[in-house]
Amino acid sequence: MAWNFAAGPARLPDAVLARAADELFMRGADGACASERPFTGDAFRAVLDRARSRLAQLLDLPANYRILFLAGGAMQQFSLVPMNLLGPVQRAAYADSGYWSRRAMAEAEKLAEVAVVARYPGEQPLAAPPTGRWTLPADCAYCHITPNETVDGIAYPDLPDTGAVPLVADATSSLLMAPLDVAKFGLLYASAQKNIGPAGLTVVIVREDLLERSPADLPAPFSYRRQADEGSCVNTPPMLAIHIAGLVFDWLAEQGGLAAMAAASRRKAESVYGAIDASAGFYRAPVLPGHRSPVNVCFHLAEPALTEVFIGEAEAAGLHHLRGHRQRGGLRASLYNAMPEEGAAALAGFMADFARR
Ligand code: PMP
Repeated sequence: MAWNFAAGPARLPDAVLARAADELFMRGADGACASERPFTGDAFRAVLDRARSRLAQLLDLPANYRILFLAGGAMQQFSLVPMNLLGPVQRAAYADSGYWSRRAMAEAEKLAEVAVVARYPGEQPLAAPPTGRWTLPADCAYCHITPNETVDGIAYPDLPDTGAVPLVADATSSLLMAPLDVAKFGLLYASAQKNIGPAGLTVVIVREDLLERSPADLPAPFSYRRQADEGSCVNTPPMLAIHIAGLVFDWLAEQGGLAAMAAASRRKAESVYGAIDASAGFYRAPVLPGHRSPVNVCFHLAEPALTEVFIGEAEAAGLHHLRGHRQRGGLRASLYNAMPEEGAAALAGFMADFARR
């Protein structure tokens, strides 16, 4: 058995791959397969509506939120969020929790005055910024956080209180891994290639009143308001990715929804962190317990020269894509929803055996 621990694009559920092969690549009576039909036609509209309503069900979405299926990745949202949400204010608050929040901040700085409202310590043990009530500058359009830092393996244990300022979250590596109180957010976004489907699609969930902020002169495909008004079909949406996302949403519901995903995620994380913590310092996790990402498990070998040996032997044992992010080195095992518990157990078993040898 071969297991893919990539941080994303990540594994899709086997059942989804099988259904996608049946549903997407067979021509129907009209001579077209799913990606060849008009995006304005009934067939694709049904796919889009079903994906939207399934996602709303999974998230128990309050009625005053809208789901957008947009082309591109989360990095586009680093710019589209300020372009749509700043309004006349031109100031936004950002929390620095590591690699991806800094990249979001760097893009926002091109468009807005950015106030850094919380920082992570940056030295080990790594941790998310302290939460509680954050003091935000006056006239702040929104406050941006990255609840799970994919590169650093840091997760916020709880959410900050930003008062009346809408909380915006880059939920790329956390959405759909656990139940979420959407009402605590003004806007959430996540690119698809971790837990939703193939790359090329980003899901944006936005509170309806914030749509009024999109300036009238924004390019139409970039305008949350226009995309909401036109059902994510201002222009041709990423049809295949949306279709597969719909199959993933069906699969999640069949597995018992997000509560079941959270329980499985806890067990997978416990198994891999357990192997680290039981190794008497052979493996080291740089993140403080309690702030450790349940999904991106980052660790090092106390003897760094063994890292390449570990990677080589792990691959020979069917455990792939364990190399840490190029900026951070070390090792990283990503345990998204489609990673079965058997895969996490196989990794934990290999780690214990490697350490013993
Ligand atoms: N934010 C986070 C938290 C991520 O993990 C990633 C991708 N690894 C991105 C943003 C960038 O996503 P994309 O490549 O889809 O633009």
